[in-house]
Amino acid sequence: MKAELALEEAKRCLDCENAPCSKACPSGRDIPNFIEKIKESDLNGALEILMENNPLPGICGRVCPSPCQANCVRGKTDEPIRIPDLERYVADQGEVEIKPATTDDRRNIAIVGSGPAGLTAGYFLARDGHRVSIYEKFPKPGGMLRYGIPDFRLSKDVLDKEIGRIEDTGLKIKLSEYVEDIDNLFDRGYDAVFIGIGAPKPSWMDIPGEELEGVIHAISFLKKANLGEKIKLGKKVAVVGCGDVALDAARFANRLGSEAFIVYRRSREQMPASEEEFEECNEEGVKFNFLTNPKRFIGDNGKVTSMECLRMELGEPDSSGRKRPIPIEGTEFTIEVDNVIEAISQQPDTNWLKRNNLEINKWNCIEVNEDKYNTSRDAVFAAGDVVTGPKTISWAIGTAKKAIKSIRKFWLC
Ligand code: SF4
Repeated sequence: MKAELALEEAKRCLDCENAPCSKACPSGRDIPNFIEKIKESDLNGALEILMENNPLPGICGRVCPSPCQANCVRGKTDEPIRIPDLERYVADQGEVEIKPATTDDRRNIAIVGSGPAGLTAGYFLARDGHRVSIYEKFPKPGGMLRYGIPDFRLSKDVLDKEIGRIEDTGLKIKLSEYVEDIDNLFDRGYDAVFIGIGAPKPSWMDIPGEELEGVIHAISFLKKANLGEKIKLGKKVAVVGCGDVALDAARFANRLGSEAFIVYRRSREQMPASEEEFEECNEEGVKFNFLTNPKRFIGDNGKVTSMECLRMELGEPDSSGRKRPIPIEGTEFTIEVDNVIEAISQQPDTNWLKRNNLEINKWNCIEVNEDKYNTSRDAVFAAGDVVTGPKTISWAIGTAKKAIKSIRKFWLC
């Protein structure tokens, strides 16, 4: 966004008293006030305001589905304020000096995982003046931000710049360090542990034929693609699911020379992906098959060649609030495929957490006390996808901020 356009857009903001945009933001950004600073051409001040609540503004400005913009009151009369574009502009152009506080009660805090939840917790706790170490099992920081989102949506330069700002707090990111034992962290002198390992484990549909060669999961596919590893795909690639991960996988497959298409059991109105990514997918030639669900994958010589699908219709809303997809019996039909990429969901890897006596709930997530993010173990906190299951980056940031409130209170006990 150019400076003149940003200024023009900022001037359209009504500076609403109750700011429904901010209320809709899971990370709680002070939107009217950062826009006010743009009006004053004070981009450093605007960035400072954003980073009071969200240490990843350049990332959220690019990949957040933006409930803030959807709730902007200007949308009722003309066009909503382009909040993510303004946020991205400020994050790219502004500079901020991070000054950690000094405290007489300086604690040692270990954070496991350097995705959005871990980076957020680390940023705010280091700013409080604590000694913070983030343990990351991969050779580079960022978790799913680095290994799950393609470069064409979020460049690694933007990610590195934002992580660099977070490191300016003085926190240390220990790369290629795999934590398996929480007791060991306490033995090494940490006063509290925060777990933000996300939900990087594939969830499968559990239908016949998933073992066939050529059926893969979007999480493994995107990780390989982001690492630049060689991936061999056939011409026709079906991507099952319609969230951002599914659409990212379809776009990536197209860029690798395949003809990717989406298969989704609900209708367009119910798709979890953002409208913006849907439009971009369309522009790039990805086709959508709504109200369609695979029943089984069919193969020849151990390799997938087609999939049998059923037409679906929508019934009453289910627990997610969206209309339940119901198979229409007798509507089976076959689609030829060379590959299937499943992208229906993912879940946390909780095996090591169970070994560490953390309570895991029926959704395979860490059980925490509601809105406080204490786990079943004393001095161990958790937030982000490992608690909520897969959600947006700003959700992960919002939950990490709630966990930090509990950590701050924990010192006072
Ligand atoms: Fe500005 Fe829209 Fe937020 Fe009102 S709701 S403060 S117009 S961005």
